[in-house]
Amino acid sequence: MIPFTFDYYRPDTITEAVRAYKELEGAGRFPIYYSGGSEIISMARVNNIHTKAVIDLKAIPECTVFENNANELVMGSAVTLSAISEANYYPLLTKACGRIADHTMQCKITLGGNICGTIRYKEALLPLLLSDASVIIASGNKLATIPIHEIYNHRLNLKKGDFIVQFIIKNKYLSLPYFHIKKTKNEKIDYPALTLAAILDEGRVRLAFSGLCAFPFQSPKIDTAWNQEGLAADAKIHEMINHLPGPVLNDVYGSDTYRLFVLKTTLLNLEKELEKMPCSN
Ligand SMILES: Cc1cc2nc3c(=O)[nH]c(=O)nc-3n(C[C@H](O)[C@H](O)[C@H](O)COP(=O)(O)OP(=O)(O)OC[C@H]3O[C@@H](n4cnc5c(N)ncnc54)[C@H](O)[C@@H]3O)c2cc1C
Repeated sequence: MIPFTFDYYRPDTITEAVRAYKELEGAGRFPIYYSGGSEIISMARVNNIHTKAVIDLKAIPECTVFENNANELVMGSAVTLSAISEANYYPLLTKACGRIADHTMQCKITLGGNICGTIRYKEALLPLLLSDASVIIASGNKLATIPIHEIYNHRLNLKKGDFIVQFIIKNKYLSLPYFHIKKTKNEKIDYPALTLAAILDEGRVRLAFSGLCAFPFQSPKIDTAWNQEGLAADAKIHEMINHLPGPVLNDVYGSDTYRLFVLKTTLLNLEKELEKMPCSN
């Protein structure tokens, strides 16, 4: 049971949504954008969130569009993880979405909600970082297209009242050889001790991580350390660990020692998998 009442708005257009937010904010209603609602509802139930008005984005066509045209994959922010898996336009993203919570939740959780939510793992973000996705955001009465690495750099850079409308990925990334592994300490369905996603792009490996540090990340420095020629895997891994952008997490989902052990074994596993991949010179 949610211990407080709030108003529910369901605008049909981006302009209406932005206007509603502005008016409700001005009226002291602490509005929030509502996508799958799974995080908002679970936090509201325990009084961990305070709002008097939610603005549901799911009736806005631009937020529910999901198509792969001749040039790119266009995903509305309110597209669910299960829809992404069913369509399987981008197999690496399908893998990532398929390991977030369970299937029932994947039918509710949206791409925008996973990336904008307060739950730190944001595992659906990794394939977007690796494919240099673009993000369309509604900001005031304008739409802006911004590279994912500007919208997300260890934290989400969205101004109050702005919301994500769509994610766009160029087709060249959709069929690249990839690697995805999620390691959990106990149950198969759980938050990650480590999730590693990687793509092989013209002989160069790009890596992205979740569950290792307090935020998911993709780091050019770590990629460079990994792609060094003629260096033994152990030496590369040692250098990569020196480039981690923050302390290794130490919590109920895994100690820092356990996570570093899992990272090393997973990267050695990746090395083997890469040898089998086409065009891995
Ligand atoms: C049981 C459970 C297990 C989970 N397991 C995992 C896991 O293993 N790995 C993982 O990565 N995540 C996991 N999550 C987190 C989950 O993936 C989502 O983060 C979360 O549930 C929100 O998705 P939603 O679409 O329901 O968003 P909502 O609940 O609708 O929104 C969440 C937040 O994001 C904001 N928001 C939503 N859409 C937008 C937008 N378009 N623009 C701007 N702000 C927006 C909302 O205002 C709100 O603050 C889990 C969540 C649950 C409840």
